[in-house]
Amino acid sequence: PQSKLPGLGTTIFTQMSALAQQFNAINLSQGFPDFDGPEYLQQRLAYHVANGANQYAPMTGVQPLREAIADKTAELYGYKPDANSDITVTAGATEALYAAITALVRAGDEVICFEPSYDSYAPAIELSGGVVKRVALQPPHFRPDWQAFTALLGEKTRLVILNTPHNPSATVWQQADFAALWQAIAEREIYVLSDEVYEHICFADAGHASVLAHPQLRERAVAVSSFGKTFHMTGWKVGYCVAPAAISAELRKVHQFLTFAVNTPAQLAIADMLRNQPEHYRELPDFYRARRDRFIEALSESRLEILPCEGTYFLLADYSAISDLDDVSFCQWLTKEVGVAAIPLSVFCADPFPHKLIRLCFAKQEGTLLAAAERLNAL
Ligand code: PMP
Ligand code: GLN
Repeated sequence: PQSKLPGLGTTIFTQMSALAQQFNAINLSQGFPDFDGPEYLQQRLAYHVANGANQYAPMTGVQPLREAIADKTAELYGYKPDANSDITVTAGATEALYAAITALVRAGDEVICFEPSYDSYAPAIELSGGVVKRVALQPPHFRPDWQAFTALLGEKTRLVILNTPHNPSATVWQQADFAALWQAIAEREIYVLSDEVYEHICFADAGHASVLAHPQLRERAVAVSSFGKTFHMTGWKVGYCVAPAAISAELRKVHQFLTFAVNTPAQLAIADMLRNQPEHYRELPDFYRARRDRFIEALSESRLEILPCEGTYFLLADYSAISDLDDVSFCQWLTKEVGVAAIPLSVFCADPFPHKLIRLCFAKQEGTLLAAAERLNAL
């Protein structure tokens, strides 16, 4: 058939994980932990399966989970969304992003993305007939350029997509960034899609700044999160979004025909986890900060230059001192010849990204990180 997404192949994450497997490399490419999530969560899943929670969940998500999400949001961001009208449980953050984009973007609408940006946004926008407008973020700090942003605003601008903590740059937005965003779009009818899947993996002193903490922005925002990241279970594919009732009603129309509903026992198990072991997400920054610091320390002899990491479980490294190869070729060489798989940054960009940067996932056991560091130190 004539492709609706010409030029698009399988994602870089699929490609690099396959290459890592083929060459038996240590896989620091695709972002997933090499350890399991909490035992309590696993036990609760088994419990709910054994107790008959095996039929369709309500389309919007099981009530205990939506209520637990509402309470967690109130605790963290000082705003309690309505569990019935404002919260929708989705098949991972990926589905929430797709449903929100499909519900909000009409043919010809323009959507502003910050680049580098996560790979799922642009195809979803294009399938809705939307046009992506890009604001470049420059290393090493990847701060938004509000002048460049404002220059893109026009009659057709419908949606802004942001991501904090940011994959792949590992930088975070501060409240001042949300204030600047509000200032730029206050007078216009523009929606905001805030990808906050790493909300609990933030190392900044001020903590994670959520769009949900901004009283004006949250009136037109969809905030997206993922339990895959929070509970070390990326394979469970349970996420959610929070949005005002009128926006939620629209994205639920899409959700009900994308998946209708999400895995019932997993939702119930996650609700138990949020209620009974909230310390898990409260302690997550310390958990990942320790891994980040251990990995950076282990790489101190390396010729890689490590960039600041304020959030996510990714570390950026500049390899200019080691090789002249472009980043895609370097990552292939690194996987095949050195035995460490990483992600090249340019794949997150449609525009040229002429930097020598790779992304390394540190959601790994200490032994994995030390073994990878030993190989990288030899370069
Ligand atoms: N957004 C970002 C920024 C991500 O890094 C990821 C996962 N890698 C997702 C969305 C998708 O999350 P999920 O696995 O829950 O679909
Ligand atoms: N979000 C993960 C990453 O950035 C990958 C998820 C996927 O493979 N789709 O590595």
